Amino acid sequence: MAKVDNWHLKRKMQYPYQATRAAKQFGAVFDINRCIGCQTCTMACRSTWTFSNGQEHMWWNNVETKPFGGYPQHWDSSLLAKLGPQKWTGGKYEGQTIFEKPDGGARDEPLGFIPETPEWRFPNIYEDTATATSSEGLSLPEHQNFFFYMQRICNHCTHPACLAACPRKAIYKRPEDGIVLVDQKRCRGYQECMAACPYKKTMFNPVVRKTQKCIACYPRLEGGERREKGEIPRCMAACVGSIRLSGWISTPAEARPDNPLDYLVHVRKLALPLYPQFGTEPNIYYIPPRWVPRKFLAQMFGPGVKEAIATRTSPDRDLRGVLKLFGTTRMTIERFAIKDDVIEGFDAKGKRIISVPFDEPFYERPFHDAEYSAHRFNEP
Ligand code: SF4
Ligand code: SF4
Repeated sequence: MAKVDNWHLKRKMQYPYQATRAAKQFGAVFDINRCIGCQTCTMACRSTWTFSNGQEHMWWNNVETKPFGGYPQHWDSSLLAKLGPQKWTGGKYEGQTIFEKPDGGARDEPLGFIPETPEWRFPNIYEDTATATSSEGLSLPEHQNFFFYMQRICNHCTHPACLAACPRKAIYKRPEDGIVLVDQKRCRGYQECMAACPYKKTMFNPVVRKTQKCIACYPRLEGGERREKGEIPRCMAACVGSIRLSGWISTPAEARPDNPLDYLVHVRKLALPLYPQFGTEPNIYYIPPRWVPRKFLAQMFGPGVKEAIATRTSPDRDLRGVLKLFGTTRMTIERFAIKDDVIEGFDAKGKRIISVPFDEPFYERPFHDAEYSAHRFNEP
């Protein structure tokens, strides 16, 4: 075991390997407030990567309905129950992570479990079901019931539990972009990674008898003969609600205020990691939903929830500008600049790839259209 930095926890933690951070780290911000649960992202991923024999149950991208939906079912509540008390003091995590709590096994494997087969069968169980009520001790003045959509892909964690657990060293984190992959030649299908991944984002293919997982669409990011370097993953490009912004995320010490992900995560502290207490330092960040009890959100996203919701509720002009960049281009926005009436996004070479106006043009139609000799009515 080595001691590694985990900035989500504001402390060092135990990890089986010495940490070497990637030169750049792939990441994304998802704005839960905008998701309409259309599952277009899910199908975009499905039709690109998981349409083969043995992948019938595999949804590398899924959108579940919280609090009771889950894919696989109970993926988070089962592990939270095993983890024990999860206390934060002044933004610092004082409980144990999955690497620090003994699993009781022969080796040093992270705390985990393998879901039962039926739990993989219903990827959208309880979809759109508002079953959480104030009677469970969770309430808001404005709502008795609540639910929200939770968009989930592999987090390409800084300290991946899947990698830590693999006895074959078949899982690796690419040093150039931090993407976590399973070497299909080395994998023997022991499924230790499935037990260890706290987000349950490695999945077993019973036909080829290997584990498979989200690859962050790295061929799109890398580019090639037929496509430009820097294309964003399919789930991000296809998102109907424009809730997703992918790019590169830095550590707090190296954060750049003109990098949209750094701006949202580090500067504005608006986007938060999912279950940071697990300890893997996940790299997908969420803007929490505004209509959900804070107590419930705090156990999912850590202690920054109240501040994040206050910021999201009253965004200033700069923040509104960055939020407008979501879903505007299929290329990775590496830098942004705010001009008088537009926000601009730039690629790795500094080329402007998108320009979005702060205010959309507004047209009021005349009652009588002389050109077509028609009268138009706006419904009251
Ligand atoms: Fe590995 Fe799971 Fe983290 Fe993905 S989310 S890198 S599968 S531990
Ligand atoms: Fe939500 Fe976007 Fe996926 Fe639709 S495509 S479910 S809006 S994340």
